[in-house]
Amino acid sequence: MIYDITRPLFGGTAVFPGDTPVSLVETLSLTRGDSCTVSALTMSLHAGTHIDAPRHYAIGAPGIDAMRLDVLIGPARVVVVPTTGPIPLAVAQTWPLDGVTRLLVRTPASDTPSEVFDPDFAWFMPDVADYLGRRGVRLLGTDAPSVDEATSADLPAHKMFLRHTIALIENLCLRNVPAGDYHLIALPLKIIDGDAGPARVVLIQ
Ligand SMILES: [Zn+2]
Repeated sequence: MIYDITRPLFGGTAVFPGDTPVSLVETLSLTRGDSCTVSALTMSLHAGTHIDAPRHYAIGAPGIDAMRLDVLIGPARVVVVPTTGPIPLAVAQTWPLDGVTRLLVRTPASDTPSEVFDPDFAWFMPDVADYLGRRGVRLLGTDAPSVDEATSADLPAHKMFLRHTIALIENLCLRNVPAGDYHLIALPLKIIDGDAGPARVVLIQ
């Protein structure tokens, strides 16, 4: 069984307020008499399901092309958080993390339509990010648009995850994915010095 946990990219894909929306324009078109159809894509690298590169939140840090692929492929555990707002450390401490290096967190954001940006999502405080890093987590995936609070300007959770060299996937869609263990494949586009990479992400059971 393969779960496609990727948000679709189309003109209506929700982005952070003010960020560049997705636009797909046919520069050549069979229906207009051209020899084939060719489209040009314009979008924020953070639209839809994507992997953040350290360059997104640290000057001079590596781009998405330098991401270690062995972190992005392998066993992963899905846990469920039924609430929005900050995820308490006490809740994170209940997650079964023994031997877990890839952790995906399913929150109410998975039920938000792909066209809707809802700033009321579950997010991580630095102490939770630090705890996950010390427990050996090397990849954190969330269905929310960010690991930090929507209004955050200094991105403390992003930076704490970076301190532990934890890769971040955002805007997953984990609806209908039960808590449990899977094989994760998450491959971002190889954009040189990209601050993120749109990715097709799947879980195999
Ligand atoms: Zn991002």
